[in-house]
Amino acid sequence: MDKKIETTDYKIGSVLSEIIRPKIPIIFLLVVLCFAFFLLGFLTFFTAIFFIVIFTVVLLAMSSDDRKALEFYKNQEELKSKDISEGLNKLKTIIEAIKEPTILINENDVILIFNQSADKTFFSSIARDSLLNSENEIPTGLRIQTIIRSTLLIETLNLYKNSQKNSIEKIEIILPGEIDRSYEVDISRVPNFSKDEFNYLLMFRETTEVKKILTLRSEFIANASHELKTPISVIKGIAETLEKYGDEDKETSKDFLKKLIDQSNRAQLLIEDLLSLNQAEMRQHILPENKVNLTTVLDNIFDGLNELAKKNKINLTRDIRKKDFYILGDEDDIRRAFINLIENAIKYNTSGKKVIIHLSDNSDTVLFKVIDDGPGISNIHIPRLTERFYRVDLDSSIKKGGTGLGLSIVKNIITRHKAQLDIESEVGKGSSFSIIFNKA
Ligand code: ADP
Repeated sequence: MDKKIETTDYKIGSVLSEIIRPKIPIIFLLVVLCFAFFLLGFLTFFTAIFFIVIFTVVLLAMSSDDRKALEFYKNQEELKSKDISEGLNKLKTIIEAIKEPTILINENDVILIFNQSADKTFFSSIARDSLLNSENEIPTGLRIQTIIRSTLLIETLNLYKNSQKNSIEKIEIILPGEIDRSYEVDISRVPNFSKDEFNYLLMFRETTEVKKILTLRSEFIANASHELKTPISVIKGIAETLEKYGDEDKETSKDFLKKLIDQSNRAQLLIEDLLSLNQAEMRQHILPENKVNLTTVLDNIFDGLNELAKKNKINLTRDIRKKDFYILGDEDDIRRAFINLIENAIKYNTSGKKVIIHLSDNSDTVLFKVIDDGPGISNIHIPRLTERFYRVDLDSSIKKGGTGLGLSIVKNIITRHKAQLDIESEVGKGSSFSIIFNKA
């Protein structure tokens, strides 16, 4: 996981021998001189030995100062190298405890330490395999450029190194891939324990999701305002016309009033759907826990839907294979999802045709299916049907009182129930929308 940082290996023994070694020739010269004087008869054997001993003692006494200095130096170096390894260990522990991907590099951009989160984020399995050495480990000496390919990061690092800044430098980088991922990076300077240089700590915070949510939110606000703008400006226009000319032509005024009611209904439907969608999204993380009988839910909504079917000259029938189908769910949510799917099947169908509501089960799941023999939907639209405000045909949706939010609400409810939505359709033949629930 972490890389070894080389520390200076202070070889005290070799330093000691460095001090003694220069004195060896002097001692050797003294021995040779005393031996020569002894041979020439200037000194007796014992006097020669006496001189050699005295001279050596004096030399050693002189080197005791060196030895004391050396001893002091040795202690200092031992303390220093203990500090370095303790400091590094502390740093490793701190970096490992950071939740966000964090990497420590040196002046030359070589990676020194990285935590598990950085390992998972940046050493993807493919990249990892190509990096491993013969011992199946990530080799030391890898540079940050090998792992994170961002010109902005490298350029900012170079500027930061030269700037002597002590504050944290913040940048945002985007790493291209199957999905582009964006990260906020904090770059800060950390003292290098063994040298007069600095190391650099890089902390990454992924912002991909946050950015996506912000984009979706602003798109949603723009779409919702756009959808509401139309009925509201029509209402305003009609109201102004009625105010001016309402008394003059009773028949025209009646037409205008009808339009006024239609547009108010449209605005109301849209606001209701927006509120439903918001509610469904807010509750998405709360797992529903009530035992709900899907047969009962259908019984409760059938009469109302049958009214709509009759109005549209559609034959609405039930194909319910058992008395009770229990799931764990939220009854209001399920009612809402069933109504949306059945209403769609009725309103997009052509008069004289039929809609079948099917309920069946197997050992683990319950299947709810709405089948119609209406116009069908082309394959290119099917993956996008659950997007907010997506319609196959805008005019037909508006005419039929659609808001483009119905299937998006259904999708949210299904996600909350950990169920599955299946859409099958063939142009000219009809469509079927299925929800597969887990049994209670
Ligand atoms: P809307 O409020 O417009 O009905 P939905 O999200 O419920 O919005 O549906 C999205 C689009 O899917 C509709 O505008 C319609 O074009 C299409 N659609 C949904 N259900 C059916 C169906 N049963 N048959 C044909 N088209 C359908």
